[in-house]
Amino acid sequence: MALSRDAYRALEAIVGPENISEDPAITLGYSYMNFVPLLYESPRLAPFLPEAVVLPGSTKEVSDIMKVCGRHKVRFKAFSLGWNVAATVGGEGVILLDLRRMDRIIDIDEKNMYAVVEPWVRMAELEVEAEKLGLAVQVIGAGAGCSVLASSTSGWGYGTKGTSIGHNCRNLLGVEWVLPTGEIVRTGSVGTGAGWFTGDGPGPSLRGVIRGWSGALSGHGVFTKCATKLGHWPGPAYPERTHELPSIGMSLPQNFKLYIANWPDWDTLADAFYKLNECEIGMSVWATPPATIALFASGTNNEALQLMTSLPPEITNPFQLQIFLAGSSMGQFKYEERVVRDVVAETGGQLVPLDEEPLKSLVPIYLMYFVLTPTMTRAFRIGGEFSTTFGAAESWDISIKSAKLGTELISKWPLGQVAFWGGGYQRNQFAHFEGAFMYDHTDPEQRKATRGFSDEVLNAVIDNKLGFPIISAGAVSEEVNKTLSSTYSNYALWLKKIKKTIDPENLADGTFYVEPE
Ligand SMILES: Cc1cc2nc3c(=O)[nH]c(=O)nc-3n(C[C@H](O)[C@H](O)[C@H](O)COP(=O)(O)OP(=O)(O)OC[C@H]3O[C@@H](n4cnc5c(N)ncnc54)[C@H](O)[C@@H]3O)c2cc1C
Repeated sequence: MALSRDAYRALEAIVGPENISEDPAITLGYSYMNFVPLLYESPRLAPFLPEAVVLPGSTKEVSDIMKVCGRHKVRFKAFSLGWNVAATVGGEGVILLDLRRMDRIIDIDEKNMYAVVEPWVRMAELEVEAEKLGLAVQVIGAGAGCSVLASSTSGWGYGTKGTSIGHNCRNLLGVEWVLPTGEIVRTGSVGTGAGWFTGDGPGPSLRGVIRGWSGALSGHGVFTKCATKLGHWPGPAYPERTHELPSIGMSLPQNFKLYIANWPDWDTLADAFYKLNECEIGMSVWATPPATIALFASGTNNEALQLMTSLPPEITNPFQLQIFLAGSSMGQFKYEERVVRDVVAETGGQLVPLDEEPLKSLVPIYLMYFVLTPTMTRAFRIGGEFSTTFGAAESWDISIKSAKLGTELISKWPLGQVAFWGGGYQRNQFAHFEGAFMYDHTDPEQRKATRGFSDEVLNAVIDNKLGFPIISAGAVSEEVNKTLSSTYSNYALWLKKIKKTIDPENLADGTFYVEPE
């Protein structure tokens, strides 16, 4: 279904002929995406192409585009850095707004510790600027190439510095939002001209409506600016690089230290996790599947395999936490070091010595991973694809129950292993622990098994009361809603009501969120 010539010309008049295309050579590229096999039969190519790709350069242009969509009954989807299948169009008759021309860091408020960004600002760009001012960004696990705004306003937000900075759903402050009607709304303090420092009020907060825990994934309109909370960065303004691409590392200042500790089982590890967070220490207290260091520190699969098979057993122990300390003062740093040693000893854990090779040279690479996670893309190198399961915002006890169950469930499927990754937020007692696995997306049997295993996990989280899971392809979708909604307060009915109120003409493509009744 091609766009009517009237609609195309109206869009072209807004952005100029150089910023709109319906050439299949362009539109096809926007449907080639990761996570596709979880939703569709195809290994990589989503079945729908955008009717046109439009590149607005300002909030006004986005608003004008929404109005044209309303007049011509054309649906739309927002696309920032495009790291997720949820940024593809979910059906026919949908145009895609590629927001790459809106790429400015508008402000970094050093005193009040937040940044105001447009959609195409990548996490790495903001982190580099923030570090110069002693501030840090909650870079998500997907890595430094993702959009700060998309992560804050529209989807997910998990990542290693969540321990100290928080999940990005909670870091969202003021928002500039173009509704599907074309109306421009500014929420929180920015709505009253008082600056961007809070996302709430006057009156009830809209942050739950805007995104909640999972995100509306463009099902509510287009966010054109947002403020996001920054954390404290007690490291150098210009960190020193220790290794060459692709595994660049970062040297450790004297107030930084990485500890790796192993426990005999999940339960003792959970005890330690609670105690470490109770003491409110660490820039990051995280459980990264141990063998993934081989991915971070290698340029090819052969190198990764060599490293993986040569790592000492204490580094590949599955019941492991990596604890990254960054002291604001040497006094605080020494206190945190004592806490780590005491808690590890009290809970029956063991620290891994990191001052001898081969581990010594890996420490700067670990550090870079915790600060910037530039490496997660390598998840695609080994298997071709990856997917994730479980991962509710829950207590660590629930998280380790998920890990035990996931390990058991996957063994019935021809899929290899599930590796659990996650940690806590804001030095609190809740965490997320997701079970990721890699598979060969070119093999139809593996694609089928991936969907089968994922469905089995959805039912298992309900039966075992493991909390609302992460769904990698779309936080929610109509299929997922059908399975989960009645267990979780009939949330889909509420989402439908919200969607209908915000988007009465159903113009925002809600395939990966919710469709109206
Ligand atoms: C290897 C890998 C690992 C991952 N690990 C993590 C992880 O650890 N933590 C995590 O949080 N996520 C993770 N993800 C999931 C996800 O891809 C990211 O969360 C990321 O934020 C996607 O952002 P993006 O910048 O590429 O945005 P996009 O893919 O462009 O958009 C993401 C969603 O937000 C919508 N959107 C984008 N911009 C706007 C806007 N301006 N207005 C309205 N809606 C908009 C899109 O339509 C889409 O639905 C991972 C993904 C991959 C591929």
